[in-house]
Amino acid sequence: MTHNTAAGPIPKSLPCTEEILSYEFQYEDDVSEAVECPPEIHFTIPEGFEIRRARYGIGIYTTKFIPKNDYMFTAYYIPIHDKQLKVKEITDRGDIIEIDTSTHFLNAGNGTYLLDPCAALINHSCDANANNIDEIIGMKVTRRSSYYAVRDIQPNEEITINYLLAVYEAPPNLHPIDPCECGSPKCFGSMRGFKNLPESAKQALLPYTLLHVRVAHFMDKQKKVDKKLDQN
Ligand SMILES: [Zn+2]
Repeated sequence: MTHNTAAGPIPKSLPCTEEILSYEFQYEDDVSEAVECPPEIHFTIPEGFEIRRARYGIGIYTTKFIPKNDYMFTAYYIPIHDKQLKVKEITDRGDIIEIDTSTHFLNAGNGTYLLDPCAALINHSCDANANNIDEIIGMKVTRRSSYYAVRDIQPNEEITINYLLAVYEAPPNLHPIDPCECGSPKCFGSMRGFKNLPESAKQALLPYTLLHVRVAHFMDKQKKVDKKLDQN
């Protein structure tokens, strides 16, 4: 299987209100169903980025200066069924990496896991230097997510994203999530998911969450309101 990242502008932000509940998780392109995970994926590393040894395993590093808010690359997710698989990633530059999809997926709910070979190699930080936004067309979410710098990034810096913006509630068996070992002075202490953050952090971070986290947040809120109405 050959996999390529596609270039594109940073998409507009998604609504941060209950309006988000009317958006659909339907991919607008041909692959709308999850597929079996391929054993091997060939892909091109975007220009200006490299795979290097990181504090834990490997990570994605930049070789160039990236100004704040600048577009970096687009992840093109493959929806897969089975998360308990090893995948061999082979880059155009000769890197061969074996990754375990049980720790390198994005849980999209309904038994579907999203895998992008490049984005899968980006490590977590509670104070990340990059973020990603789901691209939507009309009211439908696509399989693409654009990565951009949330602050100036210097050459040779590791690219990090905040997994708490992409995971609503991590399954208890997901390892290692507790305690978080990102080492940032702004560390939240745990990677158990957006749901478990303090209320003030939720308010501050909600505009940067991925669509499925935002939907889960407002669904949870609605459930609490329904419960209260039932009690009255
Ligand atoms: Zn942390």
